[in-house]
Amino acid sequence: MITRFSSFLFFPVLLFLGACDKAALPLDPDAPVAVEEIVVLSQTGATSILSGQTLQLTASILPANASNLSVTWSISDPTTALINNTGLVTALIAGTVTAKATANDGSGISGSFTLTIENEPSGDPLAIYKKIYGATAIYQDGQYVVIKSEDLPDHKSPYYLGTQWESTMYEDYNGNNSQFNLNPNRIKKQNLTFKLPLNPTPASNPQSTPLGSIGISLNGVPFYNQYAGPNNQPLTFEVNSFDQAYGHPQMSGQYHYHWEPLYLTANFGEDALLGFLLDGYPVYGPMENGQSVTNGQLDAYHGHSHATLEFPQGTYHYHITDQDPYINGSGFYGVPGTVTN
Ligand SMILES: [Zn+2]
Ligand SMILES: [Zn+2]
Repeated sequence: MITRFSSFLFFPVLLFLGACDKAALPLDPDAPVAVEEIVVLSQTGATSILSGQTLQLTASILPANASNLSVTWSISDPTTALINNTGLVTALIAGTVTAKATANDGSGISGSFTLTIENEPSGDPLAIYKKIYGATAIYQDGQYVVIKSEDLPDHKSPYYLGTQWESTMYEDYNGNNSQFNLNPNRIKKQNLTFKLPLNPTPASNPQSTPLGSIGISLNGVPFYNQYAGPNNQPLTFEVNSFDQAYGHPQMSGQYHYHWEPLYLTANFGEDALLGFLLDGYPVYGPMENGQSVTNGQLDAYHGHSHATLEFPQGTYHYHITDQDPYINGSGFYGVPGTVTN
């Protein structure tokens, strides 16, 4: 109503102006109405989607009575996402793209929408645990992942001496500890069953770690804590029986690492994911971003939280360092699962 009234009111003025300047005749009822603004929104309101998904974008054109309401869609990086002529985006890979709707009326007006594409999380909740290549079985049991291991290290060791695997797996001590002293134990096949929470949670009252297995490394060999025996006996003398991979067997032949598993860090890198403790939190090597991790960078449990290669959303994780307590500090940060043999 108001528009009509205004037009009527100004009609004589327009006639006057028309005589001077044809281009200044916006209210000529037959003149094209140009697009002034385009607002691009997503139909669902989402500003991020997973790779492989689609998202419908809509372009609202102002004024609503613009003569040409059609737009042309384009996208900033067609290797990251595609867009069709109706504004449907198909996300290809992780990244950030800007979708643009440009008016087809020659006005040069456009509207844009920035979209973040994230990688689809693995559909397999056990995928991360399958890095434990030494496991003999990995399966889900309710809220736990069950990991079985025979605890036969896949690297050579002087502790294969006199065993059925001696011909292929025995190797004389060739480490750099002049005090090395082969202990009387020999590697025996174990039947370890680890049950780790699939969704680790911080403990309200963190428990100290037990003697024996406190976690499992990639090759199926268990991690032990920083003590040699009951009442927190230090590793002082025990370290002289660590073989060239920094492992050794205890009395029942259970081979284990209290220190950096040298064979694993040599193969996978000093900054690699090396295994998990019983609370389900991952254990990383002694380097991070090209720097040695120091105990001072870690909390009382020997860990800290940030994004890692395997956990881009961030996670609490332990680091192995070359200083006591080496793998774990004063107990499990999270609620631990169980281990049986
Ligand atoms: Zn030991
Ligand atoms: Zn870290």
